Amino acid sequence: MLNCKEFEQFIDDYIDGSLPENVSRKVYLHLLACGDCRSYITAYQSSIEMGKAICDKLDSEVPEDVPEELITLVLENIKQKGSKED
Ligand SMILES: [Zn+2]
Repeated sequence: MLNCKEFEQFIDDYIDGSLPENVSRKVYLHLLACGDCRSYITAYQSSIEMGKAICDKLDSEVPEDVPEELITLVLENIKQKGSKED
């Protein structure tokens, strides 16, 4: 059985579906057993979705005069929010 720390390392690949089946199964079992990690992965997934939605918006709607630095700043901000845990 994975512990929560090991679980965290696999989240990205688990969501991608790129884990080998035996590992993915362990992650799944941990999710079943651990309510903390269930809410963690739910929050994690929605922050990814939100980030994607914002990035899509940036892609399609950024006017040409928005400085690159500002976009980078926004993206950095999204990343930090996504990984922040406390
Ligand atoms: Zn856990």
